[in-house]
Amino acid sequence: MSATATWSDLLVGDELAHLATEPAREARAAPLPGSLQPLLREALAQRGIDELYAHQAEAYTAARDGGNLIVTTGTASGKTLAFNLPVLDALAADRHTRTLYLYPTKALAQDQARSLGELGVAAVRAAIYDGDTPTERRRQIRGWANLVLTNPDMLHIGVLPRHDLWGDFLHNLRFVVVDEAHVYRGVFGSHVANVLRRLRRLARIYGAEPQFLLASATIANAGELARALTGEDATVVEDDAAPRAERTVALWNPPLLDADLGLRASALGEASRLLAGLVGRGLRTICFAKSRKSAELIHRFASDRLDAETAARLAPYRAGYTPQQRREIERRLVEGDLLGVTSTDALELGIDIGDLDCAISVGFPGTVASLRQQWGRAGRREHGLAVLVASEDALDQYFMREPPALLERRVEAAILDHANPRVLDGHVAAAAFEAPLDEGDAATLGPEALERAPHVPELRRTQRGWVWAGKDAPAARTPLRSTSPDAFLVVDASSGDVLGLAERERAYSTVHEGAVYLHLGRQYLVRELDLEARRALVEPFDGDWYTQAKKETETSIEEPLRVERRLGLELSFGRVSVTERVVAYQKKAVADGSTLDTVPLDLPPTTFDTEAVWFVPRPHHLEGLEAMPLLLSSLHAAEHSLIALLPLWAMCDRWDIGGLSTNLHLDTGAPTVFVYDGHAGGVGIAARGFDQFEGWVADTAELLAGCPCERGCPSCVQSPKCGNLNEFLDKAGALKLLTRMSNSG
Ligand SMILES: [Zn+2]
Ligand SMILES: [Zn+2]
Repeated sequence: MSATATWSDLLVGDELAHLATEPAREARAAPLPGSLQPLLREALAQRGIDELYAHQAEAYTAARDGGNLIVTTGTASGKTLAFNLPVLDALAADRHTRTLYLYPTKALAQDQARSLGELGVAAVRAAIYDGDTPTERRRQIRGWANLVLTNPDMLHIGVLPRHDLWGDFLHNLRFVVVDEAHVYRGVFGSHVANVLRRLRRLARIYGAEPQFLLASATIANAGELARALTGEDATVVEDDAAPRAERTVALWNPPLLDADLGLRASALGEASRLLAGLVGRGLRTICFAKSRKSAELIHRFASDRLDAETAARLAPYRAGYTPQQRREIERRLVEGDLLGVTSTDALELGIDIGDLDCAISVGFPGTVASLRQQWGRAGRREHGLAVLVASEDALDQYFMREPPALLERRVEAAILDHANPRVLDGHVAAAAFEAPLDEGDAATLGPEALERAPHVPELRRTQRGWVWAGKDAPAARTPLRSTSPDAFLVVDASSGDVLGLAERERAYSTVHEGAVYLHLGRQYLVRELDLEARRALVEPFDGDWYTQAKKETETSIEEPLRVERRLGLELSFGRVSVTERVVAYQKKAVADGSTLDTVPLDLPPTTFDTEAVWFVPRPHHLEGLEAMPLLLSSLHAAEHSLIALLPLWAMCDRWDIGGLSTNLHLDTGAPTVFVYDGHAGGVGIAARGFDQFEGWVADTAELLAGCPCERGCPSCVQSPKCGNLNEFLDKAGALKLLTRMSNSG
């Protein structure tokens, strides 16, 4: 019996929003390159590899010809071998050659180190160099290893500032591998782009010009991302030649319970029903949820639906498991002892837990790349099933109605802006600390770095160039995940662990006293926000409410940078200043979003500069909407739905974007809608919105037109982060405005 037969009776009913089959594909093979080192050829033969996929051969040739490259073929298409091959070949050919592998997390570096070890190429001396590496081992690794695996943070504060210890390594540095490159976007990506430029500069000082080999999930702008990250052009290898099994894709929308309010049945309940159904048929299934709480609930609901014996074959899979525990779960899955696993999506990043029959994603994970990675777990060798169970979120519901937007268009771009002064300045200081900075460095660091040098307070101009005149090493002052040096630390008071950073601009609305804070899928309650010490003390929290901050926002236009006539109106992109004041928060029930309590807060206002896209609708766009409060409500609803859809165009989170709509703005003297980058200085999100304005507005109008609710709901105009707590929203008015704009194009 084929697998299809075993699940087809589950995939019926009104909940099934879309069902498609992605056809199987034959592999396109290429011979092993004739120039391959015998040592490497032997090791590959030992592993049964006697030919390549065409894209692996293409990557090898491009690397051998001396260029940079970025491989963006699909999940499980052998991307790793594509960049390993030229590297291992070079290591086998010359014992002096050194290479650096960059991974966003320690766990991924460990996985890669293990698979390199399994390949068993005698010439490779691989070692992990990260925060856990004992001091006495470090020196040995610097001298001995020819393949060093590390992460951007270690490179930034541990390696580059101490380049004198790495002289031989840098002198012989031939390749820099940047795996999971799509992770380096937004604020983190903007910082990493500067770290890589500093690496290129130091390598050049030591006489080396390393080639960059990047690998990324499928995105719209691979070549652009490679250039943004390294400052150099790269060949894009994207023609996937790996074989693919047939895959059934199902979009599953929980039933509408109240059409007026847009209220739907719980996605967790639907997911657990599917999970139980699939596991009950003996199919190995992984289910990804957005939070640990959700994953636990799905696990429990699914267990309740099954007999005790089958329920015992379900397991949760958590962040924080040791590699041994992970191996144990993998082994039980492979042996068929385990059938179902629920996990938070924090684990999705490249970690391989084997070949499964089905993958269920509960709620759109934020990017198509992540969704594809989750789905890639299902049916690698045999016909698999991939399911997205929609949440009530606007983007999820948009995909349910417009499946091609999810399955066929490739619009999502990984964006970053290394030149944002809030990001760049810390790296200019770090670069000057590493070696005096002069005009010649513009070639590697970019001309922007030299322009910023006079503005960095502790730099002195000398005969040798700009030098660091401060006392400490400046890199340590520049965290890679924030645009403000005065970010707040979020500390778990029960363990003393630092969970993360909250940028000052957002700390007041995300980690105020009483806020429920989510980290790696776990919930915490903020006990205290210490403004002086810039620290939020939190504790693990098991309650069933979340919080939403109420805030007052003002924007003023600092400088329009680009103004164009688009969609019949004046569209602007430029610098704005945003002032926010958090005045209260609401506690809301997880179950139904009802308000439990409103608590006032007394916090100072915060102001930050950022980039925004804004527009002033023309009178004919607003005809019939001019009366107050309809005008404001229409603009406000349009702003919310635009923000909900922007992550489809620019890979980011709704939480990375802010907005403001007003019936009369002081700077424009007219009704105006602003959508701004939530990170000080901007990381390219608003700029992408400006570039893609027509498509963005058209998608948003479609979202509003298609939502079945009567007057606006969480799936269209309501926003979980509205500073006005979703008051004054008019869906019909917003639809009129956006449709008229779209038709003016
Ligand atoms: Zn709606
Ligand atoms: Zn709002």
